[in-house]
Amino acid sequence: MASERERLHNLFPDLDFDPEQLRNRYREERDRRLREDGEAQYLEAEGEFARYADEDPYVEPDYEREPLELTLDVVVIGAGFSGLMTGARLKERAIDNFRIIESGGNFGGTWYWNRYPGAQCDIESYCYLPLLEETGYMPKEKYSYAPEIYEHVKRVGKYFELDDRAIFRTRVTQVKWLEDEALWEVSTHRHDKIRTRFVIQATGPANRPKLPGIPGINRFRGKSFHTSRWDYDYTGGDHNGGLARLWDKKVAVIGTGATAIQCVPFLGEYANELYVFQRTPSSVDLRGNKPTDSDWYDSLEPGWQRNRRENFAATLAGQNLGEDLVADGWTDIVRRIGLALRARQSDAGDLDMEELALRSEIADFQKMNEIRSRVDETVENSEAAEKLKPWYRQFCKRPTFNDEYLETFNRETVHLIDVADAKGVERITETSVIANGREYEVDCIIYATGFEITTDAHRRVDFDTIGRGGLSLYDHWRDGFRTLHGLSSHGFPNWFTIGINQNAFSPNMTAMFDDQAMHVSYIIDEVKRAEAEEGWVREIIRLAGTGPLSFLNECTPGYYNREGTAAQGTRQNTGYAPGINVFNDLLSAWRESGDLEGMIFS
Ligand code: NDP
Repeated sequence: MASERERLHNLFPDLDFDPEQLRNRYREERDRRLREDGEAQYLEAEGEFARYADEDPYVEPDYEREPLELTLDVVVIGAGFSGLMTGARLKERAIDNFRIIESGGNFGGTWYWNRYPGAQCDIESYCYLPLLEETGYMPKEKYSYAPEIYEHVKRVGKYFELDDRAIFRTRVTQVKWLEDEALWEVSTHRHDKIRTRFVIQATGPANRPKLPGIPGINRFRGKSFHTSRWDYDYTGGDHNGGLARLWDKKVAVIGTGATAIQCVPFLGEYANELYVFQRTPSSVDLRGNKPTDSDWYDSLEPGWQRNRRENFAATLAGQNLGEDLVADGWTDIVRRIGLALRARQSDAGDLDMEELALRSEIADFQKMNEIRSRVDETVENSEAAEKLKPWYRQFCKRPTFNDEYLETFNRETVHLIDVADAKGVERITETSVIANGREYEVDCIIYATGFEITTDAHRRVDFDTIGRGGLSLYDHWRDGFRTLHGLSSHGFPNWFTIGINQNAFSPNMTAMFDDQAMHVSYIIDEVKRAEAEEGWVREIIRLAGTGPLSFLNECTPGYYNREGTAAQGTRQNTGYAPGINVFNDLLSAWRESGDLEGMIFS
């Protein structure tokens, strides 16, 4: 039997690295960072830390309104892309008696909160921005910056006339099923009384900022904020940079994930001194953004957007053997890593599973070697370059794409502080960040420490949902999510959730949310239509009374009384007893309401 080395040489005769060495290095680097406290290392943004999540720097602070009393068909909780798409799809089905409740001051969710300098979406705009064909909008570039996305969110809201369906600056405090009334009661921190047939929870995966549990974090007396609540009053400037008020400030950034990669270049340009505290370096690939070619855009055939996003999803799943329409960093990674998988599909039987895994691993090593070489080519200080190299497989962390981040470490005023060995920043004092036993005095600490994406479901929404028999959704989910298709849960009637758990995941989140929104609004529409029909049948029978039946039974046989066998069915099959004028009034009122209640069109 061939040795491991021979096998490798036979499969990859030109390999210029030792896979075993890389495997060992990856394990060592993982162990440097592994902490026993796991997810418990993070603090919830509540209590003394609530301001990191609750403060909204984008609206006037004082806002009051009278409590609302509403009876609705649907309440959507959350006005990010998932809530927005749900509202749009409900409207499309002429379901209009709904509200979208949102804690922020406008639509947008992630794109409402994350306005830090340089914020941009890594997913190609032609796939990511939904409803481009419907709204007739052409994205400016292949990758959109946050302000353009936020504008598009508002555009979709306008297009579907969702503005007056939204209740902003309002936090839901409880959702409770009222068994006797077969309705949900939605309570809010503004003491609204809302009853509704259906609830759709669209609270999003990145709605709660996460803070590191660094000892002393609450002692710091300087300025501090989370990247998703950027304080431009303090830094100066806006999303495009110009953070001029930092000219005399020493700034610390804690975290080096996708967010930090985008904002660090701007901080580096303006801060008097910038300290970037890094536990794990990100994999930073080329961005290569470019303006949209309007001739190309105009030439796209109707239906192009769904086609494109499905092509993207298929490519990422390794199922697309044909044209890669998006052809970017995401699909490049998968094309390489998926090489073995494709080979298996096209040449079934030729590859064993072990070989498949090995081929995929080698492709990953090659990709990450390129990422590491890029660091050497870009960062002048070899010590910093060494620290900026990611030693893990590509999809251990979200890959990032940026053409200015690595260059920032060539500035004399930018300092990379590697905290891997201490498994994080050591301590924070009233004036400083302490790392590796050294004190860094700073005026401002910016937490680029991410969101509660995978923590306990209840931790991510600060209200309870109480279903049949007083059961809390979070007790029902104590051992993990329990859903049908990731959308509904037993014991929680007429309740749906749009999200990322127990359904097919895609990094192109808006497409994923849109598909779910379409499905849920279809179900609600069908239920309502069936109910409308059932209600009309009951009304016909009620109005028919017993009169016509007893009369017909006395009659001589004929088709009027089914040849003398008139039964219950005859009453159901009669006309509308109050007569044609009353019926016409009823239809006219139905038309004037404009919501086409009970109808489905295709
Ligand atoms: P992440 O969770 O990705 O990153 C948090 C960072 O904080 C990590 O670098 C982490 O280090 C670091 N950190 C945490 N605790 C400590 C500590 N005690 N000491 C030092 N460092 C610490 O958050 P992001 O906001 O960057 O990204 C969150 C998600 O948002 C992304 O995964 C992505 O889905 C989305 N996003 C998408 C963007 C896009 O499309 N362009 C842009 C920005 C965000 P460590 O890695 O070692 O844990």
